[in-house]
Amino acid sequence: MMNTVNVFSKSNGLIVNPLKCKLFCGSINDEAKEAVKQLTNFEQGQLPVKYLGVPLTNKRLTINHYLPLIEKRVERIRHWTSRLLSYAGRVQLIQSVAFAIAQYLLQCLPLPKFVLNKIDCICRTFLWTGNSVMDDMKSSTWSWVFLNIMKQRQYIPQLQQLWDKMVSNDKFSMKLVFECLVGSMAKVDWRYLMRHNPARPRAMIILWMLCHGRLSTKDRMCRFGFIQDNACSLCRENDETMPHLFFSCRITHTIWSHILKWIECHHTPCAWQDELKWVTATTRKKGWKARLLKLAFTETVYGIWHLRNSMIFDTLDRSNK
Ligand SMILES: [Zn+2]
Repeated sequence: MMNTVNVFSKSNGLIVNPLKCKLFCGSINDEAKEAVKQLTNFEQGQLPVKYLGVPLTNKRLTINHYLPLIEKRVERIRHWTSRLLSYAGRVQLIQSVAFAIAQYLLQCLPLPKFVLNKIDCICRTFLWTGNSVMDDMKSSTWSWVFLNIMKQRQYIPQLQQLWDKMVSNDKFSMKLVFECLVGSMAKVDWRYLMRHNPARPRAMIILWMLCHGRLSTKDRMCRFGFIQDNACSLCRENDETMPHLFFSCRITHTIWSHILKWIECHHTPCAWQDELKWVTATTRKKGWKARLLKLAFTETVYGIWHLRNSMIFDTLDRSNK
């Protein structure tokens, strides 16, 4: 065999480096082993040996052979936990790195169920807690979903009566379950504005916040102590409160009046609460006119809020308003 290797070396100049080669023997006596070692000048190696990160052995791999793989994974996770990663970042790391390593190993050798469970456990703990792995290994062996289901046991007596009723009627209602758990709440009239509204989602969100009185107008910011100046960003004539901005301010009043005129709706804008009541009452009817008014109202509210923000953050010249 060495003669063949020597012929190969002479022909193309590639020489075997004995320092980088190991001799692995099986089922031969010591004399023959020594003879081969002297002939080749190779050191004797011990199995299992790693080749491209995969353990190679002449016997069946035991759990001890797989432990370095798990430890390697834990070391990577520990390194990741030292950084502040978001949930999305952890998902991305698990998908692109952790699963890629497991898939690579699975292409070369079958991984025992124990190892797969450990790798799954490591990834799951890292995903949900962002912590190092071995510390939480014991608790994370429980399924996260199962644990959360078990936490809801307190609601079972509350639901039992309703559940029996639904089983007897052979009809399940998610609405009834929700109401049973959360309880019935007061319904607001303006909920009809949110239904079948063709406005953009961003405009719907602003209207929803406005209806809840949660828009960060200057009077609220002053109350929280964030700013000192609470003059209206558009007219600079009154305090910037929510009722002033929608639609007592002479500028926003004009904008909304023009839009109402444009969609041929004969109505004079009033104070915010009255205006909301009027729009809600008018748009409860079906038909394209109601949908058009909903759309116009929602987008106008969004447009005014966007204009006000542009004025504050100097992205729009005040003379262009
Ligand atoms: Zn104003």
